[in-house]
Amino acid sequence: MGTSNNRKAVSLRCCFGRKAYWGSLELHIHPDARAVVRALSPDQPVILNRPHAAARAARFFIEKFPGRSLYAVKANPSPDLLRVLWDAGVTHYDVASIAEVRLVRGTLPAATLCFMHPVKAASAIAEAYHIHGVRVFSLDCLEELEKIRVATLAPDGTAPEDLTLCVRLRVSSEYSELSLASKFGCDLTEAAPLLQATRQIADSLGICFHVGSQSMSPFAYVQALERVRAAIVEASVLVDVVDVGGGFPSVYPGMEPPPLEDYFGLIARTYESLPVSYSSELWCEPGRALCAEYNSLIVKVERRRGRDLYINDGAYGALFDAAHVGWRFPVKAFDAYGNDNHADAACEPFSFYGPTCDDMDHMDGPFELPAGIGSGDYIEIGMLGAYGAAMKTAFNGFDEAEVREVTDEPMASQYLGNRRDPRVSDNVVSLR
Ligand SMILES: *Cc1c(COP(=O)(O)O)cnc(C)c1O
Repeated sequence: MGTSNNRKAVSLRCCFGRKAYWGSLELHIHPDARAVVRALSPDQPVILNRPHAAARAARFFIEKFPGRSLYAVKANPSPDLLRVLWDAGVTHYDVASIAEVRLVRGTLPAATLCFMHPVKAASAIAEAYHIHGVRVFSLDCLEELEKIRVATLAPDGTAPEDLTLCVRLRVSSEYSELSLASKFGCDLTEAAPLLQATRQIADSLGICFHVGSQSMSPFAYVQALERVRAAIVEASVLVDVVDVGGGFPSVYPGMEPPPLEDYFGLIARTYESLPVSYSSELWCEPGRALCAEYNSLIVKVERRRGRDLYINDGAYGALFDAAHVGWRFPVKAFDAYGNDNHADAACEPFSFYGPTCDDMDHMDGPFELPAGIGSGDYIEIGMLGAYGAAMKTAFNGFDEAEVREVTDEPMASQYLGNRRDPRVSDNVVSLR
């Protein structure tokens, strides 16, 4: 089915003369990865988009988070995903660079942008404020506050009266798989003077933090909010926004977090007890949780050597986290005809080598795959929507990838309420 459509997608991509984003074109829709392999017999990796899964995640946050949800664009900046989230009701976007500001403004002209990187170039602040209508900025030191103050002055030197400034507090990353504790955030001991100085300039004063990515316990947020409480009490300032940041988890092999409702419930209860302004707002900035289920990737096995499989994507492609932080992703294998030719074989642990000539292009896994898998077979690697697409580079000439849309469900989900029993789920949860 759809040979001509397939060809159309390819030629469209060539016309644009650049690498396709993860989903920047009108895409031919297939039921699943097997159907894509049958249709394309692809020699390049194929990125699969699941708009229904991203829309479901967005609706979940909008309906259940007890405040406003901002999408953290860096997790996956694909314009197609941005449009899916917008259509599902996400109106606010956490951007961290002037390129992200321009991208989101160009893709979603009516979106509200919040520039939440605490260390920015003065020119980026000025362009964001004066040209793109950005009114929300974060900071973690007096120097950055002064930068924001100067960059947002009108040409006649008038100070703006519409700034929301969020002071980033350093909090613990002890419950998270990826720490964000050391680079940004002011210590509690420095927070009071910074909050007081920011209050002088901000129309609306916020406090934000990030508990680290893939936070495996809701108590991370309780602990961080207790630090927010201490900062507010110490500074005795009126606070208008409490922003609990990102860190909301997705499901991966060996990482099955509690339901997100548990996070939302504890955050709501702790927030309600904070000494904040009567009209204050609660915000969050999920990245991973909104996009992890959006993409999977089809790779081809080019060679097998013992328990190592040489595949055509890797550390410099969408598998950065698999290589550099040992992240495990769920996998499914099938042959060139999309059949489960090894369905009866027992699974064994495999590692992957990526396509570049670099020894570091190695993904330990282990990835549980049928014992008979070999050259010419295909593997679908799931849950790559967050920090997968965003990390792809052109190193060694391996940046080609087709993009297709599929309608089946992601290999795991926080939003379906049908998690498999960990002991029988093949690749979704560690067997160890
Ligand atoms: C990366 C980042 C996020 C998103 O984090 P996730 O762990 O993907 O949810 C949110 N806010 C800020 C400031 C970030 O740097």
